[in-house]
Amino acid sequence: MEQLLVWTRARSISEAIAYSLVVNVLMFFAALAFGGAVVRAFPNARVAHQGPPLSRTELVLASLCVTFNSLVMFAGWWLFQAGLLRVDGAPFGWRWMVDAVLLVLVMDIAMYATHRVAHFSPIYRFVHEIHHRYDQPRPLTLFVLHPIEVCGFGGLWIAVLCTHAFSLGGMLLYLTTNTLFGTLGHVGVEPLPEWWARVPILRGIGTSTFHARHHQNPTTNFGFYTAIWDRLFTTIDPHYASNFARLVASAERHAAQGCVEANE
Ligand SMILES: [Zn+2]
Ligand SMILES: [Zn+2]
Repeated sequence: MEQLLVWTRARSISEAIAYSLVVNVLMFFAALAFGGAVVRAFPNARVAHQGPPLSRTELVLASLCVTFNSLVMFAGWWLFQAGLLRVDGAPFGWRWMVDAVLLVLVMDIAMYATHRVAHFSPIYRFVHEIHHRYDQPRPLTLFVLHPIEVCGFGGLWIAVLCTHAFSLGGMLLYLTTNTLFGTLGHVGVEPLPEWWARVPILRGIGTSTFHARHHQNPTTNFGFYTAIWDRLFTTIDPHYASNFARLVASAERHAAQGCVEANE
C-alpha cells in the first residue's frame, strides 16, 4: 500500500487525470455488470416495475456523472499531493476494517442529512429532482444525477477524508461498499429474503426495497447504507417491513391499496 501511495504521488497532472478517468469508467461498467447480473438472477423479485427504454437524457447524465466523479478523484489526488489530504499506507489488517466501518458510519449520517436538504425546494427542483424522474430504478439510475449532486457527494467525501489520515485499504473498502449499496439500491429487484426487514440489526441495513421505496415515495427512506437515521427521525416508510421484497409500483398505488400488495 505504501508503494502504491508513492507511485500515486509521483504521477503527473495529465497522468492523474487519465488514471482518474480510467478508474471511474471501469467502476461504472463494473457496477452496471453487477447490477445487471442481480436483475437477471432475481427476475421474479421485482420491487419496482421495469422502466421504459433507456432515454438519451439518462445516458448523457450518466456520462456526465462518470466525468465529474473523475474530476472529484483528480481533486482528491491534487489535495493528496499538496499534503492537505493525508493517506495512511497501513498494510492489510484490522486498521482497514476499522477505517471502512468508520467511513460508512460518518458518510451515512452526512449523506442522510444532505439528502434531506436536497429535498428542500428549490434545491430539489433544480438539482435532485432529475434523479427522482426515474421512479422505476435500474442499475444505470445510480449514475443518473445532476452534476451538482455528483460534486456535492464528492465534496463531502473529500471533506471527510481531509479530517483524518484514513488507511488506503479502508478507503478502498468503503468505496467498494458504496458502489455495492448504490447499485443494489437501484436494481429494482430484491435479492434478500422476505423476513430480512423483520430481523433486528438486519432491518437496520439499507436494501434494494428500501431505496426503491424512496424513488416511489420521496418523503421517506433518505438513508443509503442504513435505515438508522430514518428510524430515529421518523422518516422511514411505515410499511417498509410489511412490504419488503413485494412489488410496489408507485406511491399512489401504495397509498390506494394499503400496506400489503401481492407479488405479481
Ligand atoms: Zn436513487
Ligand atoms: Zn431523494
